[in-house]
Amino acid sequence: MKVILGKNVIPVGQAYSDQWQGVVVDGHRIIRMIRREDVGAFDGAELIDLGDATILPGFIDVHAHSEVVCRTSYKTIDCRAPECGTVSDVQDALRAGEGDLEKGEWLVGQANLFFDRKLAERRLPTLAELDQVSKDRPIALRAGGHITVLNTKALEIAGIDRNFRPPEHSVTGTPEVIRDENGELTGVIKEMDSLLPLPSPDSRQLKDAIKEGLQKYFTDYGVTTIGEISETVAGIECMNDLAEAGELPASMRIYLWSPGTLESLERVKNWRDHIRLTVPEWQLRIQGLKLFSDGGFSAKSAAVNCCYVGHPGRSGSIAFDKYFLRRAFMMMQESGLQIAVHANGDRAQDWLCDMVHKIGGAGTGRSRMRIEHAGNLLPSSRTADKWARAGIIPVPQPVFLYTFGEYFSDYLGEYGTRGRFPFKTLLKQGWRLSGSSDVWIGSEREATNPFFSIWCCMKRQAYSGIYIDTDESLSFEEALRMHTLDAAAALGEEDDRGSIAAGKVADLIAVKDDPRTMTPDEIRTLKPFFVMSNGMTVKDDRKTSFGVN
Ligand SMILES: [Zn+2]
Repeated sequence: MKVILGKNVIPVGQAYSDQWQGVVVDGHRIIRMIRREDVGAFDGAELIDLGDATILPGFIDVHAHSEVVCRTSYKTIDCRAPECGTVSDVQDALRAGEGDLEKGEWLVGQANLFFDRKLAERRLPTLAELDQVSKDRPIALRAGGHITVLNTKALEIAGIDRNFRPPEHSVTGTPEVIRDENGELTGVIKEMDSLLPLPSPDSRQLKDAIKEGLQKYFTDYGVTTIGEISETVAGIECMNDLAEAGELPASMRIYLWSPGTLESLERVKNWRDHIRLTVPEWQLRIQGLKLFSDGGFSAKSAAVNCCYVGHPGRSGSIAFDKYFLRRAFMMMQESGLQIAVHANGDRAQDWLCDMVHKIGGAGTGRSRMRIEHAGNLLPSSRTADKWARAGIIPVPQPVFLYTFGEYFSDYLGEYGTRGRFPFKTLLKQGWRLSGSSDVWIGSEREATNPFFSIWCCMKRQAYSGIYIDTDESLSFEEALRMHTLDAAAALGEEDDRGSIAAGKVADLIAVKDDPRTMTPDEIRTLKPFFVMSNGMTVKDDRKTSFGVN
């Protein structure tokens, strides 16, 4: 038994009475909350006295690509703005990174989403500029996860020439090769990263990368449960092995990407034949299926109810048909898996919800369907009416308000200024919203810090410093709930996680002061100094960090 003591406990989901100062944990569960003076009654227990700390529930990030982040940060050059502010900064960063590579090895740069807006030149680096870095070595510069710039050598290796026809679909959307007015290749490709022969770590390197990455990107910020959009079976099995060794610092709820992690719906349904799991579900479990119904705004492939600026007639397309959706839904319901559909655009959401309504609704409990990115851009309340009719769970990403909230209008004109992250309105309508990082290739540095995401909800300030619809600002308490209890609800786990209460899983964090008395800017950079996940101390800055000596 352990007793964790602080100055106060913010339990979430109950009135703040400030009556408790401690939490008693047995195994991986909370058994009760106590006052400081009652600690004597727990004589045999291990006492973790955190002094003046405020204790909160561990954060839940319901949509993250942790394996991707761990993989790509492993052998990739960081080219993100604002540190790389110009094309020549990018070239310098790539050149500096080249030194660690062997002859002929791919040089992969990672830039942030909307990189063409964030560089001083207000455009992506060109094929010729990447050729200036190297002509003999393949180079891929990823601007987020949908758009990539290749140099000549990379195009050659990928087999992309003047006559190349991209396949109809990739796992992320509709692949595209961008040509200039003369039909020549520009080096820019969209939705094609999964089709490139990019280098990948071997199994030992991957396990190390995942172990280090989870600690660095999640545990350090107090994330104790991750809704993981999986990448590979090998990655999932690495997480299982870490859990088995007592080294997995967060609970994983895994969505199988299909086609992606597994090739077909049949395989997802019968995942036990394809993925070897040995640890209990509270540590790691296969939660559901991830599908893509449209692309992203930056690639002008989100399916919207308007046209993209400068592209009359172009409004994005929907990647599958109603027969596929119906089949997927039936199969997942049968196997108790939850579907999470990526639908960025309002037209994709409308279409999905109409289809789901026809099928008979989005399901209940742990298998209730989620729509990823619903709530980020909501130009018309009609779309939210459709969510309600279908019964789906909207899963918005507050951090995108910072990352690209101000750029919607660049792509969609006036349409893109209507209903950006209307969280206050949605809460008033009774929606339970969750926060999540959607951390992937090229996310902002702070993306996986839930306190940063909370800051986004409170302050609503975008990358350039402008404010977006501040009448939609949330209080700290509202935003905290999105990242804890209501995030647990999106995973169907609100009875088990997301707040501090007797019987719940012991996922706890402690910060030095009380965030309720801090300004949003102070909250933005907050980091817990103590993190407990499933009753196990995974970060304790008073000692050394978990798993890292
Ligand atoms: Zn995602």
